[in-house]
Amino acid sequence: MRDSYGRRINYLRISVTDLCNLRCKYCMPEKGIEKIDYNEILKLEEIQSITESFVNLGVDKIRITGGEPLVRRNILKLIEDIGKLTKVRDFAMTTNGTLLKKYAKNLKSAGLNRLNISLDTLDKNKYAKITRNGRLSDVLEGIEEAKKVGLGPIKLNVVLMKDFNEDEIENFVNLTKDEEIDVRFIELMPIGALKYWSLNNYISNETVLKNIEGLVETETVDISSPARYYKLPGGKGRVGLINPISCKFCENCNRIRLTADGKIKPCLHSNDEIDLKTPLRQGKDINGLIGDIIKNKPKEHNLEDGDYINRNMTAIGG
Ligand code: SAM
Ligand code: SF4
Repeated sequence: MRDSYGRRINYLRISVTDLCNLRCKYCMPEKGIEKIDYNEILKLEEIQSITESFVNLGVDKIRITGGEPLVRRNILKLIEDIGKLTKVRDFAMTTNGTLLKKYAKNLKSAGLNRLNISLDTLDKNKYAKITRNGRLSDVLEGIEEAKKVGLGPIKLNVVLMKDFNEDEIENFVNLTKDEEIDVRFIELMPIGALKYWSLNNYISNETVLKNIEGLVETETVDISSPARYYKLPGGKGRVGLINPISCKFCENCNRIRLTADGKIKPCLHSNDEIDLKTPLRQGKDINGLIGDIIKNKPKEHNLEDGDYINRNMTAIGG
């Protein structure tokens, strides 16, 4: 389905929980988030029903995210149900990777195609520090398992942070030399309760281009992707740069987000939300409502200077 600006909206990102087993400093307050009442969170059947409505309206690309999607109870059932929707041609998940060793095989057999895994450092002490006690070995083992069962090509999401991982850019880029892996450097976004932390620790993605010689920009394959891609000469994988704030890819935006508590965010960089949970629970036909939401998707980012996204990233999913 096309919106009123002629963009084909075919990508739904679903946050299945705002809970997480890590506490990344840029994403989650140290004490965690205020727990939302269980009833406020969409049930798996409700997520499935909303997903089917979107798919019937032309969505063929779905990403499961969170919080950490793998901590959601019975997540495999949802993956299995969405995996059965034949009109979905690309079915992916963004995860911190810590639980993949246990889940990768079942995710693959349930119908998931591929994974984005978030990893901001390759140093175990730094990893424990930024995630407030995560274990790097869990993620590395998870990545190996994901590759083994065929959940690739893997995309690694690396959030760049001042005085934290600038010195590791080269190591991350070198991962693309011999392997078909995409390493994507993401600029910190000031968002939710941690907006000031992000503003204080921000560094631009240009740092990557300044630090690494020889990166060659590749042809854009997917114009709706927020990433600009580069390659090392002879490299098998790609290096992506994602500038969520400065780079406006609005004219090619194809995405819509569903939050864990049943709100639609038609644009990440806007605080506008539309409640789907209430009409769904009232037994109303949500297809028409979803069609209207798509049609009315905003033309572009509409936050004024000095305004920030109110919701925490855990509720939106990236
Ligand atoms: N827990 C999963 C994970 O970490 O991959 C999925 C949810 S997480 C919110 C999705 C992505 O958002 C991750 O790649 C994370 O690094 C990124 N993210 C979180 N907070 C961010 C921020 N303030 N700025 C930029 N990226 C952020
Ligand atoms: Fe959890 Fe992902 Fe946020 Fe880290 S970035 S706290 S893993 S939701």
